[in-house]
Amino acid sequence: MKLIENALVVTMDPAHKIYDRGDIVIDDGRIAYVGPAGRAPYARAGYSEIVDASSQIVMPGLINSHSHSQSAFTKLAGSGDRTNVITALWYGFAHGLNRSLRDIHVGTLLHAIQLLKSGCTCVIDQFRFYGLPESDEIEQAATAYQKSGMRALVAFDMRDRPNTTLLPKEVKDIPQSALDMMQAREMTFDDQVALYRAAAGQWNADAAGLVKVIPTTGSPLGCSDKLLMTIIELAEEYDTATTSHILEHPKDRRSAAAMWDKPLLEHLADVGYLSERLCIAHAIWVEEDEIELLARHGASVAHNPELNLRLGGGRALIRSMMNAGVNLSLGADSATSQNIFEVMKITGLIHRLGKPNPSDWIYADELIRMATIDGARSLRLADKVGSLEPGKDADLLFLNLNSPWLTPLNDLPSRLVYFENGAGIDRVMVKGEVVMENGEILTFDERSVVEEARELGAALYERNQDFYRLASQMSEILKPEIQALEAEAYERRKI
Ligand SMILES: [Zn+2]
Repeated sequence: MKLIENALVVTMDPAHKIYDRGDIVIDDGRIAYVGPAGRAPYARAGYSEIVDASSQIVMPGLINSHSHSQSAFTKLAGSGDRTNVITALWYGFAHGLNRSLRDIHVGTLLHAIQLLKSGCTCVIDQFRFYGLPESDEIEQAATAYQKSGMRALVAFDMRDRPNTTLLPKEVKDIPQSALDMMQAREMTFDDQVALYRAAAGQWNADAAGLVKVIPTTGSPLGCSDKLLMTIIELAEEYDTATTSHILEHPKDRRSAAAMWDKPLLEHLADVGYLSERLCIAHAIWVEEDEIELLARHGASVAHNPELNLRLGGGRALIRSMMNAGVNLSLGADSATSQNIFEVMKITGLIHRLGKPNPSDWIYADELIRMATIDGARSLRLADKVGSLEPGKDADLLFLNLNSPWLTPLNDLPSRLVYFENGAGIDRVMVKGEVVMENGEILTFDERSVVEEARELGAALYERNQDFYRLASQMSEILKPEIQALEAEAYERRKI
């Protein structure tokens, strides 16, 4: 049993209790006590370790509810700084195609370094962009997270429709080489389900319980109704979350109307896909009159403002979603530095743009909730993590109270959101084990991973040159139709 004593403890429990001088007792990775200092019902002699945290804030580890380790590794290589949502999609296909198993493993470890160093203890990783991973690829991603000691939901993206469903149907004359790039991998429906079951059977039963494989899709537009229902059934059977990109771009609305003859969310609700198990990534183009549908079906939304800004993708209506009772979480996604502190800050700031009335803003305490307990809820892990309560796993973040950014410490939520940037992180703990301390990853050799990632990244960049050219060409081919859709969407939203 370990004792962490005299910390400023931010619990994020239902009462949002904060202990100015608090203790946390950890027994076998779980929190046995959290409360005022000196009041835990255990003899001091019984502790195997006592940690003096009198100069630290202890809070729940942060949760990143949307990410792609693939892009955290490639960092949108080749696409330059004029990358919009559509260009990023094509570069995503390109990067995904050409990755070796070693690229996946080392890239996932690199992702884990970025996350742990910025205080994130749990991530949902759609590691194979738009899908159909092979079992040895899942193995590489999952073992990397296992090695890192962090908690991860490794996404198994499925689809049984061609990826061309992602394109506006009006676009003709797509080069065969681009179609080949999109469709590079095929797998039958039954094979996908069997492969998912095999991976989930192995990983979701793992005793440590930190790494799980979850059934997902890159986009519901790539799925038959049967597959959408199967994904939800698998999520129920294995008691996990599922996730997908939904309405990240206005083209999704157009494609859905062409395919189902009704609005996208309505169709998803009708087939039972819109559910409490679903964490929707982005939801930028969910309009005011559709929000009630999300709330009614209990779906969560992972808000990714940093990526959305980087790609010029627009701004989700999250104040309205929150007011309607939709559970909101935060994702760092993959076009920036993977830092959830930054994501909290940017979320707090961008929703003030053009909104002089503070009642329209997202507040610091809400942002911390999105990055902790509500993030856990969106990943169906709220019974395990997201707050410091007895019975939950000890996923903890220790921040230095002597940090200049936290001194003097008044208005704690605003300090954490607008002044902390991760520089004050002393220690990160997952399930009671310290995995990062004083800027150093303790679970694997960070330096050799970074060195290898540098070499692998350069080699991948060389291998991918033809694909980059194709990706640029596709962005140009799609531009007229895409820009018309964007103009229409901005007009509808009166931006
Ligand atoms: Zn994404």
